[in-house]
Amino acid sequence: MESTLRRAWAEIDLDALTYNYEKIRKHIGPGVKFVGVVKADAYGHGSVQVSEKLQELGADYLAVSSIDEAMELRVNGISMPILILSHTPKEQVERLIRYGITQTVTCEAKAEEYSAEAVACGGVLKIHIKVDTGMSRLGYLCEGDHFEGGVEGIVHACSLPGLEAEGIFTHFAMADEHDVASEQYTQGQFELFTQVIDGVEEKLGREFSLRHCANTGATAAYPHTHMDMVRPGLLLYGCGEHARMLGLKPVMSMKTTVSTVKTYAAGTHVSYGGVFTTDHRTRMGVVPYGYADGFMRCLSNRYSLMTKEGLAPVRGRICMDMAMIDLTDMPGVDVGDEIEVFGARNPIEVMAEMAGTIPYELICMVSKRVPRVYIEHGEVVSRELLLRM
Ligand SMILES: *Cc1c(COP(=O)(O)O)cnc(C)c1O
Repeated sequence: MESTLRRAWAEIDLDALTYNYEKIRKHIGPGVKFVGVVKADAYGHGSVQVSEKLQELGADYLAVSSIDEAMELRVNGISMPILILSHTPKEQVERLIRYGITQTVTCEAKAEEYSAEAVACGGVLKIHIKVDTGMSRLGYLCEGDHFEGGVEGIVHACSLPGLEAEGIFTHFAMADEHDVASEQYTQGQFELFTQVIDGVEEKLGREFSLRHCANTGATAAYPHTHMDMVRPGLLLYGCGEHARMLGLKPVMSMKTTVSTVKTYAAGTHVSYGGVFTTDHRTRMGVVPYGYADGFMRCLSNRYSLMTKEGLAPVRGRICMDMAMIDLTDMPGVDVGDEIEVFGARNPIEVMAEMAGTIPYELICMVSKRVPRVYIEHGEVVSRELLLRM
């Protein structure tokens, strides 16, 4: 579905995606495989479009968070390996096998269930074992006193009929931070992970083909953790400090236009609650971009949008569908002009910091009424609107 409006849209620069992918490939070197993390609609960028591009570029694997997300890719013609990072109900095992989707196994009970289902339907389910080395979320608990039991449990899962243990992975809790304590914590998680792998492989008498742990922070900053495969998400989309560190480009730019310009006398209240009052004659623009599009209301009266003449401050409360920007010092900016909310000229990291959040949340919250416009070789190649029409 195409949007008929030039209201607010997210430009997805597939050339930047390609650039980032190739740059990360170069950074990890030829012996390391690449998982493109495309959960949450590829962090708001469109999982089908991003996956098509990654498939074309020769990425090795995709990772999603649920079977629904995996099926979305299969139904849309993505044939490369897909790993589901979270739980899938056992009733879905037949479907996982039929569609060639790899499932994470996080504990003994699930390994048993998946094995029984796979045997019952006469197939083999490909699995990756998840090890909890300190994230304290999903995975076989292997810290301290749990080490022997954890290793035993993993060996048991890998020996069950109907399961093919292709990989083993863990997830870092602090790899994105670079104070000494975080670095030590990450190193501790990595060491525990390698000990678990050694213990399991020795008992099994064979090696896993895919051992992986590096998320964005570790892919960028801890090359010794790359192992067989890396799993960067945010890095691929060119956001955050690690993307800056590697010279990557933001893939998404959030754009809108000036829909109306009015000039108010001093003493005029602007928007709900009158939290902003003009203190001089003020030329104010209205942009059709509000919190229902993903513009966090806590940025009211604080954030600035990029115009062709520089940054225009947001005045008054951000509304559901609109926000006001001060154009007094930008006489050349007028109705119809393009405005960048975040992107190459208005870094999302600044917006995230000001909103008290992280770039992840901002790109994931771009709402479905915001059309995605895909750009390749400098031209618009497709537009997608996610409304039910
Ligand atoms: C989301 C996720 C990633 C990617 O995280 P980034 O910080 O975006 O690189 C990697 N591994 C797992 C298990 C995840 O859930």
